[in-house]
Amino acid sequence: NASLEEVDPELAALVEAEAVRQWRGLELIASENFTSKAVFDSLGSCLTNKYSEGYPSKRYYGGNEVIDQVEELAQARALAAFGLDPEEWGVNVQAYSGSPANLAVQTALLEPHDRLMGLDLPSGGHLTHGFRTVNKKISASAIYFESLPYRINPETGLVNYDEVDELSANFMPKLLIAGGSAVPRDWDYARMRAAADKVKAYLMTDMAHYAGLVAAGVLASPFEHSHVVTTTTHKSLRGPRAALIFYRKRPRTLADGSLEVDPRSVGLEAKINFAVFPALQGGPHNNAIGAVATALKQAASDEFKAYGVQVQKNASALGAALVSRGHTLVTGGTDTHLVLWDVRPHGLTGSKLEKLFEAASITTNKNSIYGDKSAVNPGGIRLGTPALTSRGMTEVHMEAIAGFLDRGVAIALDIQAKSGKKLVDFVAAIQSSDAVVALKADVE
Ligand code: PLP
Repeated sequence: NASLEEVDPELAALVEAEAVRQWRGLELIASENFTSKAVFDSLGSCLTNKYSEGYPSKRYYGGNEVIDQVEELAQARALAAFGLDPEEWGVNVQAYSGSPANLAVQTALLEPHDRLMGLDLPSGGHLTHGFRTVNKKISASAIYFESLPYRINPETGLVNYDEVDELSANFMPKLLIAGGSAVPRDWDYARMRAAADKVKAYLMTDMAHYAGLVAAGVLASPFEHSHVVTTTTHKSLRGPRAALIFYRKRPRTLADGSLEVDPRSVGLEAKINFAVFPALQGGPHNNAIGAVATALKQAASDEFKAYGVQVQKNASALGAALVSRGHTLVTGGTDTHLVLWDVRPHGLTGSKLEKLFEAASITTNKNSIYGDKSAVNPGGIRLGTPALTSRGMTEVHMEAIAGFLDRGVAIALDIQAKSGKKLVDFVAAIQSSDAVVALKADVE
């Protein structure tokens, strides 16, 4: 029972160095968070030792009487966190992470080469929503299925629902996907469902990024209009790295109390569960499932609701503070936990600014902006507030952070003027910049 420090000081030192990095800087990556000590405790527990292929009371291994209870606890809490009726919705808690969860849904609902439509990656969608370029199928969701992405309206930056209607009427997908990774505005699920209904497609919503805000009641709930809802548990939901797949157990209840006639809402439970195990996965990660249960208990609290509200207020405040300093945001602001900052008007790229901020202990990520010429050198920076809100930051801190980011842009312009346009030269010049050292010192 020797500790990590005793057994492997080399790794222990790396863990410590990462802890210092996470706490010393400003964590603005929209998909990251600081999970609780209670969640760490479950992750690091004996639950990791157990094999439990199958589902509660139908396992392929003995000794699962406790694990069954862990899994059922996670399922009950997942439904409760989103206010779902267990007669109407079920949930699979075994997917290892968001990407396998999405592939499981596609495996469950589609035959190979069936058609799907999701938001294009440069428009803010996720890889697993069918990402492909003109000449290359990138994601398994485009390799195994035929994918046609829909996009945002370049003028407004908003999801182009007219295009969704038009493309889906022609392409006739069997699966339509709502949700994305860099979308600063809420979704019109009724509109997505109407488009899906016209071609009898399933509607899946991937709320991975903003599930915490849905749980907190800050953003619209996708459940009423979706057949399936997926989410990761480690982003705004503040849990361990894992995923949930919610599926309808019966069609929607209509205003007169009768059930909607919707064959798509029938038989989903068996299809989804089979796709996760045995089609795609083996033994569930029980330590993660236990940690999901704990995170969802926390997510159902009033404290978490207040957290979700603050995440959104912080994102709005950060966006407004950037705009007031003359910066450009896609859609001009945000309803969610993130802002998408278009740095092209400065003649800069997301890649350069990401590197400069990193050198100043501000962690962000470069992000494609619709219309970018190259995905390798995108024109945006994505900023999210879930992690810093977990550290107790509020609007006043966002104002100060906008000041740091603005200073970073001025420094970047100065460096670029001296080093030229090339990224390698720019990155080399960052290393010897006194202004970056001074910014880092102020940030820390
Ligand atoms: N779905 C969305 C919308 C995401 O943003 C992400 C991750 O960034 C995923 C799915 C994939 O999750 P994971 O990284 O856990 O595979």
